[in-house]
Amino acid sequence: MTKFRSIFWHRRDLRIEDNIGLFEASKNSKNLIGVYVLDPNLLNLNRTTSEAKNWFLGESLLELQKNWERRGSCLLILNGDPIKLISKLADLIKAECIYWNENIEPYEINRDKIITEQLSKDKRKVYTFLDQLIVNPINIKTNNHEPYKVYGPFYRKWIDLINTTSLSANNLIQIQKNYEKFVGLNDRELLSLKNSNLNYCITKKRISIDNLLFSNRFKNTNLCPCKPGESGSIKQLNLFIHSEVINSYNKSRDIPSLETTSHLSAALNLGTISCRAVWNGSQMARNIATDEHQINSIDSWIKELAWREFYQNALFNFPELEKGPYREKWLNFPWQNKHSWFEAWANGLTGIPIVDAAMRQLKHSGWMHNRCRMIVASFLVKDLLIDWRWGELFFMKNLVDGDLASNNGGWQWSASSGMDPKPMRIFNPFRQATKFDEDGNYIRKWIPELSHISTPNLLAGEIIPEERNSYPKPIINHKNQTSIFKELYSSIK
Ligand SMILES: Cc1cc2nc3c(=O)[nH]c(=O)nc-3n(C[C@H](O)[C@H](O)[C@H](O)COP(=O)(O)OP(=O)(O)OC[C@H]3O[C@@H](n4cnc5c(N)ncnc54)[C@H](O)[C@@H]3O)c2cc1C
Repeated sequence: MTKFRSIFWHRRDLRIEDNIGLFEASKNSKNLIGVYVLDPNLLNLNRTTSEAKNWFLGESLLELQKNWERRGSCLLILNGDPIKLISKLADLIKAECIYWNENIEPYEINRDKIITEQLSKDKRKVYTFLDQLIVNPINIKTNNHEPYKVYGPFYRKWIDLINTTSLSANNLIQIQKNYEKFVGLNDRELLSLKNSNLNYCITKKRISIDNLLFSNRFKNTNLCPCKPGESGSIKQLNLFIHSEVINSYNKSRDIPSLETTSHLSAALNLGTISCRAVWNGSQMARNIATDEHQINSIDSWIKELAWREFYQNALFNFPELEKGPYREKWLNFPWQNKHSWFEAWANGLTGIPIVDAAMRQLKHSGWMHNRCRMIVASFLVKDLLIDWRWGELFFMKNLVDGDLASNNGGWQWSASSGMDPKPMRIFNPFRQATKFDEDGNYIRKWIPELSHISTPNLLAGEIIPEERNSYPKPIINHKNQTSIFKELYSSIK
């Protein structure tokens, strides 16, 4: 079989191992180089990304670059619009084929369509694969051939498809065997690339990526529980599986003071780990589980992986979700959008301890526990009467794992504007704190100025003025606000 000169374009698959598109490219190419494009549309700190996520991306790219060099080729890191850069690069190095793994976000789908047309016009071959999800969304349809809108039936179909198609276990072994070496470009070609007007950085020196990514650097990397890079992600998965944390996941996953979830969300978002590796990890844990309780725990974790796939499917099938509520009635909700309340929420200064602890966790560590994401989202929408899209955007601008589909899904679920059939879910922050932070450890960790308050008072948010230190009084009364919310909700058509 004739082998070609090819480019592999990394996007949300910042890994060498177990990468379907890269595996196919390496099998079929005479020369192969990698490219990553720092796309300003995806790296906008005011809209689409956060400093924490840029840190995770930058560290992961540095490792990926080293891994390409170890394999005998290189990873170019370009800075600009992929629509211009991918064709230009293909031109410059005379690549005959371009490979990549597809994504499901509307912007990426449209962008890729334009790039594919351009490359095809130039008589280049484009090969794309789906490697971001365990099950391809095209294959998950109801009996009426429609996309699923409800998680329960989606999950049953998803697990059924996995069990009946046995994933790509054979491919996995093959991929690792065939990955020994790539043949890159020769020195003369690399030099001429360097001298071209392509905007890129091909240096081994860290400083150039630093300049691109870290102008506004995320400081608290030690507080962020998500570990960047391919090796960091694999370690994180192994730790979760082998330390047996997974075996008690269904009991401990809701306790935000414990580190008992996998913290793999950022790795899954940028693909420093494959969804197959994660799935295989869960199966390995299942095989060595010793009792029913452990199996149930592992299955609860698998159900979370399925939530991720559910939201990706939802966005893929209903791209309009990106723009607003699934339930159109919500377009008429009379949001009060009080800026001072939003600022208090964003800065962890609402005077409601569990909400403030969670928002401070986000601000300092770039990550927030899932239980707390639900609490603060409900509070913003149903207590503060602020449009959930403000919260959605704030999360994207601060989370290390910000992901359009999961974030939008989580916010629409909390706001009751999404596909979820239960429309009126209101969290009482004090009851949530009592149930999930019963010793007040989480609150004390993130709001140290309240560490002297007795646990019952801390959980109930009843702090007398003399004991408050600098901590603010509650900005609202939960009971009053939620009854206003209910009235406003019943008034919309
Ligand atoms: C308002 C709101 C916003 C959210 N925004 C995001 C986001 O931007 N990015 C993101 O990855 N997750 C988001 N989530 C989902 C969830 O909170 C995180 O995925 C989870 O906390 C990550 O921690 P973990 O990796 O330790 O998860 P684990 O509990 O170990 O779960 C394993 C994996 O399953 C997936 N997952 C778990 N729970 C969910 C869920 N409810 N929805 C979708 N996927 C899930 C994640 O990929 C996660 O890494 C959001 C949830 C809410 C309520």
